[in-house]
Amino acid sequence: MRVVVLGSLMQDLVVRVPRLPLAGESLIGDGFAMFPGGKGGNAAIACARLGASVHMVGRVGTDAFGDRLIATLQADGVDCSFVQRDPTNGTGVAIPIVFDDGGNSILSVPRANMAMTAADAAAARAVIEGADVLLVQFEVAMEATLAAMRMAWRAGVPVLPNAAPIVRYPAEALGLATWLVVNEVEAAAMAPGTESDHAGKAMGLMANGMEAVVITLGAEGAIVASGVGTKVVAPFAVDAVDSVGAGDAFCAAFAFAMATAGLGIGGIAEAARFANAAGALSVTRHGAVPSLPRLEEVQALVALPGAGLRH
Ligand code: ADP
Repeated sequence: MRVVVLGSLMQDLVVRVPRLPLAGESLIGDGFAMFPGGKGGNAAIACARLGASVHMVGRVGTDAFGDRLIATLQADGVDCSFVQRDPTNGTGVAIPIVFDDGGNSILSVPRANMAMTAADAAAARAVIEGADVLLVQFEVAMEATLAAMRMAWRAGVPVLPNAAPIVRYPAEALGLATWLVVNEVEAAAMAPGTESDHAGKAMGLMANGMEAVVITLGAEGAIVASGVGTKVVAPFAVDAVDSVGAGDAFCAAFAFAMATAGLGIGGIAEAARFANAAGALSVTRHGAVPSLPRLEEVQALVALPGAGLRH
């Protein structure tokens, strides 16, 4: 299974403070930690842990954060030959601010991610055209994402956008999608319909000509749409501790399952069930990258008769 992920690479700098500072105030916090982040990097590592051969196409700065992110991807076997080092724009950073009451706010500065160009995708043309699936998100410069999607589309390579985060995107971005994965909030921004009408929204998105649309529903699992209708795919019951990374784990597993013949996963619903298992496992552990499951774990959960791990 050959996967190409074109997407974001971010260094997360998590700070813990009692509350937001007032204008002009210098507020003392009591916690700090650094984690690898960015939807693209997370998806690449998730695919690698499922056993795929993965090429990452992205952009970081020539700084120490860029070194760290590349080392993290390589530690999981992700090929970083097409991760460009940008001499002008530094590595993207996100600063999740966690408050004492458990709430959070996030500052995000994409930097090198938004400096990606169509040339970044063109440099990886051979691996994109030879892939079994191309996975993209909307967290880097759209020009690079579209260029990769066009290349894959022309070569007959399935294209899976995870349309996250919510940004303005050209209609072409959905027209080039073979499959689409969004969460409830993204679906609401992209398709008309009442809050609970997930089936209507999924079918509405299908009008862009995709083979399959999935709306992830958190602890409720997912709803899938194909040309013949919609189906709710039940979640796996787990003890959830941290939902960070669940969407990335789901998308990677869905792409993997849809593109892998050997797993015996025939239909879209089966692929979504496999992805539900990956998403569920990721919420049982803290963080994004540390929570991404391995193939054996996902297969073991999928095979459990009770469809759950809840204690
Ligand atoms: P996002 O993180 O993008 O908002 P969701 O919250 O919809 O995405 O979660 C993605 C997937 O992860 C869900 O479709 C489901 O398979 C799994 N998941 C998330 N939260 C839970 C949970 N509490 N229990 C079981 N599975 C979960």
